[in-house]
Amino acid sequence: MAYQAEYIWIDGTKPTPLLRSKTKVLADGATPPIWGFDGSSTNQATGESSDCELKPVFTCHDPIRGGSNVLVLCDVHLARDDRPHPTNTRVNCVRTAKKYASQEMIFGIEQEYTFLKLDGEPLGFPAGGFPAPQGPYYCGVGAGRVIAREIIEEHTQACIDAELMIEGTNAEVMPGQWEFQIGAADAVTVSDHLYVARWLLHRIAEDFDVVVSLAAKPVKGDWNGAGGHTNFSTKAMREDKKMKAIEAACRAIGKKIELHVSNYGDDIESRLTGAHETAPYDKFSFGVSDRGASIRIPWQVQRAGKGYAEDRRPNANCDPYMVTSLITETVCSAAE
Ligand code: ADP
Ligand code: MN
Ligand code: MN
Ligand code: MN
Repeated sequence: MAYQAEYIWIDGTKPTPLLRSKTKVLADGATPPIWGFDGSSTNQATGESSDCELKPVFTCHDPIRGGSNVLVLCDVHLARDDRPHPTNTRVNCVRTAKKYASQEMIFGIEQEYTFLKLDGEPLGFPAGGFPAPQGPYYCGVGAGRVIAREIIEEHTQACIDAELMIEGTNAEVMPGQWEFQIGAADAVTVSDHLYVARWLLHRIAEDFDVVVSLAAKPVKGDWNGAGGHTNFSTKAMREDKKMKAIEAACRAIGKKIELHVSNYGDDIESRLTGAHETAPYDKFSFGVSDRGASIRIPWQVQRAGKGYAEDRRPNANCDPYMVTSLITETVCSAAE
């Protein structure tokens, strides 16, 4: 029987790209082929030369349609000469991961996000006003403390059914804000899975008339922003027993503050203020158990002398291909 392949790609919207998708019906047994789309409608081309190419890079079971239907994550190429489209950051991620493959870098990414009503107000905020201050919401239970859990339940099961590397979920500090984690895996795998998990979240929330926002600071004032904490380790960081490799990695990243922060997602200055469990965006620090540091070393890691570190600066709206390739390049080139 024929089946459906949902082709998913990252568009050219600025400052933060959107996910797009369309459906191809394929004959039983057929492999999803290269396909195309109208780039002039996705900020990826002009009207006169509008064709862009979709190249399948990662395919998984479609947990929404079920059966033999699939989700097909694609990267975008220029139809005229087949070169990677300027919006295609995956190609460089693949190249960087290959270049430093011998250091066996792996990542786990914590995706925070905020649910909004269709009118743009955060879900759980009274019309035109604010709920009770932050405190009871993080990992909370019970009506009035936790909002839209039914969407999280559906999304988590969908990720498991698609065999994405989802690791867990939790309600966040601001009401209507949640997190899921993906990993730990190499840069390309964790990023591919994260994009498909984001698509599934948008798609499932759509059925509830709920908008998923990845904005870094969706509500100004005394409300937490939304991050994309990026945990990373090389083989040396996982094996060393004296914290040397971990500290060297942190120091290498600390030498390139501007390069990293300017590629960690739009509006990072509003989120990384020094308050709300963040470090100021223009300063660098690392420390054990320190949620006010740029990079946190978990206490278990300090105790073992080995493990991983958490770059807390990437935004919820970051591009994981960009973030993981930057961390790989900075950490691995310094270790060579
Ligand atoms: P917290 O909220 O305390 O920062 P989480 O439990 O949300 O922590 O996320 C921890 C993340 O660390 C997970 O994504 C996991 O994959 C990642 N992680 C654990 N060990 C490693 C490792 N050795 N290398 C890279 N990432 C790791
Ligand atoms: Mn977390
Ligand atoms: Mn969190
Ligand atoms: Mn974290």
